[in-house]
Amino acid sequence: MLEVRNLQVSYGAIEAVRGVSLIARPGQITALIGANGAGKSSLMRAISGVTPAKTGEILLDGKDISRMLPHERAQNGLAHAMEGRRIFHQHTVEENLITAWHFRKPKGNFKLALDKVYGNFPILAERSRAKAGTLSGGQQQMLILSMATLHAPRFVLLDEPSLGLAPIIVAQIFEFIKEYCAEGDRVVLLSEQMASLALKVANYGYVLKHGKVVFEGTRDELRSGASADLSSAYLGGGQ
Ligand code: ATP
Repeated sequence: MLEVRNLQVSYGAIEAVRGVSLIARPGQITALIGANGAGKSSLMRAISGVTPAKTGEILLDGKDISRMLPHERAQNGLAHAMEGRRIFHQHTVEENLITAWHFRKPKGNFKLALDKVYGNFPILAERSRAKAGTLSGGQQQMLILSMATLHAPRFVLLDEPSLGLAPIIVAQIFEFIKEYCAEGDRVVLLSEQMASLALKVANYGYVLKHGKVVFEGTRDELRSGASADLSSAYLGGGQ
């Protein structure tokens, strides 16, 4: 289980995350839903440690990681696929995967991990020698997800993996995330601007507005009448 308690993130005078608490459970996809600027990325960056939190606690299966450096959090099983396509554009698909593998001081067998990636996304096998910068947006997102999950981390933070992608590609990517989560009872926290998209895949969701949780509930609760108001009020017209 991933537990966040009273997390606060500020950039000077800007309070991006204002006392957020949440729980993401194993075998479930937990969504962070909110409009542009609601604080989703800041919250995720504070969980993985790339942005310092002002206060608050972060626990992975009960272990407090709040004061650990990002690489120590990664060693404790946390992976973070950040917003924007962070890959080495001049390197090939396979070189990107090799880099991601070595970055985490690997245990296990790279060949097996690579076969798994190519089994999940055959297009990446076809394009393994292509420069990553020449991939389509969907293929780049497949590569990013593969790099983040290459070591089978137990806790995964996915920041807007659907951003800018066609519905058919989003469906494929969400299918991968669902399978990854279910296999091995993993903990997935996924941020999404569109509630309607998040609810296609998430079991539970937190709605953020101006850095605060304004609503939380199961998929059905978020879909219910209460969430209709939330959609127009907080999600910029999401369904
Ligand atoms: P988006 O969907 O655009 O990524 P978000 O919900 O992830 O939005 P954040 O990116 O966390 O929201 O932004 C929350 C607030 O913090 C916004 O007001 C934003 O302008 C501000 N902010 C984010 N990053 C920085 C930064 N590096 N310096 C200053 N302010 C920032």
